Amino acid sequence: MNDDCIFCQILNERAPCYAVHETRYTKTFLDIFPATPGHCLIVTKDHYQDIFEATPDAISMVGHVSTLIAHVVKEELQSEGVGIFQLNGAAAGQTVFHYHMHVIPRNTGEDLTIHNRMPGDPAELEALAARLSTRAYSMRVDD
Ligand code: 5GP
Ligand code: ZN
Repeated sequence: MNDDCIFCQILNERAPCYAVHETRYTKTFLDIFPATPGHCLIVTKDHYQDIFEATPDAISMVGHVSTLIAHVVKEELQSEGVGIFQLNGAAAGQTVFHYHMHVIPRNTGEDLTIHNRMPGDPAELEALAARLSTRAYSMRVDD
């Protein structure tokens, strides 16, 4: 764990989050600057800066959970598409240096930005997290 890392602070419950899903190895919560409504982040419970530090097992678990969360956002929010990606290093646009995967609901005609400078509305984030969480725990990854 890294005391200066915002994702570690969320994992330690020293910072709040809009939680969606949790496994032994991962936690999924909403991005508070959502590219689109329902933008989720899947983070490893251990602190790895990026893909070059993360273990193959941790990366596999995040990949496994990203499949579940893709189904969850597509079904719950009826999105046409889902973007799944992650960034490594400032040169690649990474801004939080704790390994994580973005899962972003996408619809035709929307701006394909990754980072939004506008924070989401707290009430909307809370309601979305509750819907996505209920859906996530009702599904199996191979549903
Ligand atoms: P990166 O640029 O490193 O791939 O993505 C980091 C993401 O974390 C960004 O999309 C940013 O909006 C999000 N983010 C930054 N600070 C916080 C925070 O305190 N809480 C949450 N939930 N997301 C954050
Ligand atoms: Zn961290």
